[in-house]
Parts: sequence; C-alpha cells; structure tokens
Amino acid sequence: MPLVLPAPLRDLARTLLDMALPPRCLGCGDLVSDPGALCPTCFSGVTQLTRPHCEQCGLPFPVGGLTESGARCADCLADPPAFSRARAVWVYDAGSTPLILRFKHADRTDAAPAFARWMRRAGADLLADGPVLVPVPLHPRRLWSRRYNQAALLSRAIAQTEGLTHHPLALVRSRATASQGHKGRTGRWSNVRGAFTMAKPEQVAGKPVLLVDDVMTTGATLNECAKVLLRAGALRVDVLVLARVPLETGH
Ligand SMILES: [Zn+2]
Repeated sequence: MPLVLPAPLRDLARTLLDMALPPRCLGCGDLVSDPGALCPTCFSGVTQLTRPHCEQCGLPFPVGGLTESGARCADCLADPPAFSRARAVWVYDAGSTPLILRFKHADRTDAAPAFARWMRRAGADLLADGPVLVPVPLHPRRLWSRRYNQAALLSRAIAQTEGLTHHPLALVRSRATASQGHKGRTGRWSNVRGAFTMAKPEQVAGKPVLLVDDVMTTGATLNECAKVLLRAGALRVDVLVLARVPLETGH
C-alpha cells in the first residue's frame, strides 16, 4: 500500500522530487530539458487533432474534405450526441497510445499537469464559458485496483489552473461495465446504458459542465454521462479528452 499524502504535501513532495531528479520524456522516459515535456522523437510521433473536424463530436474530417465552419459528421447529423461539443488534443494512434497507457496504468501521474496544459489549449472555447469540471468516474472496484482515476487527475489539474470548480464526485459509476475494449460500436452503446448516476445533482444543476476523460472512442461513455448530467439539470455538457480514436477501427 503506497504512502498517501494530503494534496499539498504531495505537491510539495513532487516539486522536491522534480528538483532532485532530471526530467524525463513523458513518452519514452529519455532525459529532456523541462519537466512535463516530450522528447523530439515522441513529439513528432503524436498527431495533433486540428481542423477540419466535426463541430459537435470533434471527429477529424479528411483534409480537403468538408471544411465549412459548423459542419457536422454524418453520425452527429443522424443521431446527435447528448453533449454539445467534444474536443481532443491528439488523435489516438500509435504515437499517443504509449503516452496514455503510461499515464493510465504505469503511475506516470506526473504527466497530468502537462496533459492538462495541452487540453486547456485544445478546449479553450469550452473553458471560456466558465464550466464546472466533472471527470468520467471509474467504478469503485476499478478505482481500488488502479488507485487513481486518470480522468479526475486531468480535470483537477485543468480546474486548478483555470480557477474553475472541480466536482470529482458529482457523477458516479453505479454499475461495473465490462471493458469497452473488445466491443463494436453497438455493443459499446448498450454496455454503458444506465451505468452512471448523479451522486450530487446540485453541483451541476443550472450550470455548464465540462466532462473530462482521457480517451474518446465511439463517444458512448461520454454520451451516457452527458445524458445523466443533463437530466440532473446541467445547462449544457461539453467534452474534453486527451485523445480520440479517429474512426471506428473495431478496437
Ligand atoms: Zn460528429
């Protein structure tokens, strides 16, 4: 069982560690000049998710395709998600996957401030409304085994630097869901239905909400969370993630 320090002490310990240890690339672990940085190789390996993309779900459009502002993808036109806008820093691909997996499963939680900085840039429009931040929750059992919710680390770091309110316990995962990893699109949507409930609806009622997660695949989980937040009275729900899968690739 690791030593659990209160947040201010933990931050101090982290600062002291950063001073004592040379900073390492968040991707490969090579030495870099600044903490929270990527080495040139890892930096050139990630794909920034830039325009043109669907105005609603953020799905990247092929360059040279639909570019008029406000354009939405076929899925959003046919069956709009409950969230208003989703934005991501990177395309979830071979370049960004190792970064996210290290953050999620290998205790590279020190990446949170740098990831949050990039997310603030990608989500500047969404943050301009002064939303309250809510992370996608883990089921308590998974939280217990992983010891931290990577989405809450991101939303906390964003809220702190933006001076916004963070409500990490507003939304809870009331039902453990099977891993989304091997399900196709339809399976993912039914897998998460009814999996989330509001623990503290008063924290979001009448307010714009920014829902935060690390990865968006089909958007099924985020859509389900957005529905629950809207039912609790949220004015609007936007979504900010670190990376999103560009197209349904079946994984
Ligand atoms: Zn879309």
